Amino acid sequence: MLWTPDTPPDGGMFSAGEIVEVEGRPGEWELMKPGPGVWTVESARLEDRVSAKVSVSSLQRLADTPHIRRGDLVMQRYPEQERAAVVGAVVRLGQWVAVKSYTLPDGGVCQALDSVDRLEVVTAEQLAAAIRLDVVHGTHMGRIVQAVVTARAGQFRVVCRCAPGAGEICRNGRKVTWCPSLDSAHQLWDWHVSGHAPVGSVA
Ligand SMILES: [Zn+2]
Repeated sequence: MLWTPDTPPDGGMFSAGEIVEVEGRPGEWELMKPGPGVWTVESARLEDRVSAKVSVSSLQRLADTPHIRRGDLVMQRYPEQERAAVVGAVVRLGQWVAVKSYTLPDGGVCQALDSVDRLEVVTAEQLAAAIRLDVVHGTHMGRIVQAVVTARAGQFRVVCRCAPGAGEICRNGRKVTWCPSLDSAHQLWDWHVSGHAPVGSVA
């Protein structure tokens, strides 16, 4: 293994953000920063976090290490999700939960707690590559949105403000229509605006 400044001298066995147990110290601890033979750790809880320097040899892996850690870019694991958040602290509150920070359109930051089980790690490239198109035709104001996570990743949904509920445009009575390609999404949009009048339209 190549040595890099981010690789601690223990050969990279542990890495920043991991939650571990520390011999002789009760509770669970988050690895913050490696040093020669030591790690700076913080108590893995939401408040009153204590910092300490502990030796690498005192670290013990958890049996149920969470798969999400500080700094991860995450999305909730459902295909309609468009928003990603950055993970801060990860703590055990019965189950593992993560503090997520969203940047709002106005630049403000909003924090929320979420179960780690519902979160999937994504990359900035994945997000940037996801197609999100505004489509307008007459009074139809819609969007074509590509899923980033789940088995639907890469597929498209088409929504319009005139469609009921979440705005999904449906064909053949299906609740949600996922399009395998951008072309087919445009075709669904064209079908929608070409006189197939909205069902239960809201003005
Ligand atoms: Zn419409």
